Amino acid sequence: MYDYPLYRPPSEGNSLIIQATLGCSHNKCSFCNMYKSKKFTIKAIEDIKNDISCFRQKYEHVERIFLADGDALILKTEDLKGILVYIKKLFPECSRVTLYGSPKSILLKTPQELSDLKDLGLSMIYMGVESGNDEVLKDINKGVSSEDLIKAAKKVKDANILLSVTVIAGIGGAERSKSHAIKTGEMISSMIPDYLGVLTLMVEEGTNLHNKIINKEFELLNDKEILNEIKLLIKYINVKEPIIFRCNHASNYISLSGNLPKDKEKLLTQINYYQDTNKLKQEEDRRL
Ligand code: SF4
Repeated sequence: MYDYPLYRPPSEGNSLIIQATLGCSHNKCSFCNMYKSKKFTIKAIEDIKNDISCFRQKYEHVERIFLADGDALILKTEDLKGILVYIKKLFPECSRVTLYGSPKSILLKTPQELSDLKDLGLSMIYMGVESGNDEVLKDINKGVSSEDLIKAAKKVKDANILLSVTVIAGIGGAERSKSHAIKTGEMISSMIPDYLGVLTLMVEEGTNLHNKIINKEFELLNDKEILNEIKLLIKYINVKEPIIFRCNHASNYISLSGNLPKDKEKLLTQINYYQDTNKLKQEEDRRL
């Protein structure tokens, strides 16, 4: 039923995954090889609907649906609306439909289109932003600026669609660590996403970033530097409205979660605690 490899956000672990696209519409980020084996394709609407019908026969009760792969929002709005209507018809018990949306796809939609998608059941968009530092965004070939990212976030929020964003600690390397943390914190303060996930850079062989490391053009951060970067990022997130903060992905050295701004001091204290004790070493051992 699925065209592998298949990815979904950690929080969609219990969701039914329906592939509307295959691969990633961008597929050029220097650190990512998730969809390198796939040519980006938008599936035919009839095929997507057939998949939905087959899943209905297979599963009695589905609470949540995630539309994969990398950028399902790139579908023509009319097609996406048709899929959402079809999901509602076949899975009336489903309370949440989510997808990955690239900043470019979000910016291509009009406010009315996003609002219509919300009305038809699109609950949340996951957007990978990685950094708020324009030099880092250029280095990693993200294809958008921090200004584009902020505009895209605002469009999602204006449409009352929940917004979940991810940033990557360590993606600026040693050279840009500080400015990456500060600029990303400032960008998140402008975006005020509903959810913020902090991942830690994991380098995959065969990526451009891996080659840069071999050629000594990029210096990785060690565990303590990564935690310093995350602390700086948190310090620079200054918001009044709540953001659910998660730093508990398998890539992270320590597991953190809380709500910003309420838990800001608590999160910083937790990181200090890990840094000041032997805990970090134990966590590292656990990861091996
Ligand atoms: S990080 Fe996201 S946008 Fe970039 S290539 Fe990978 S899947 Fe595509």
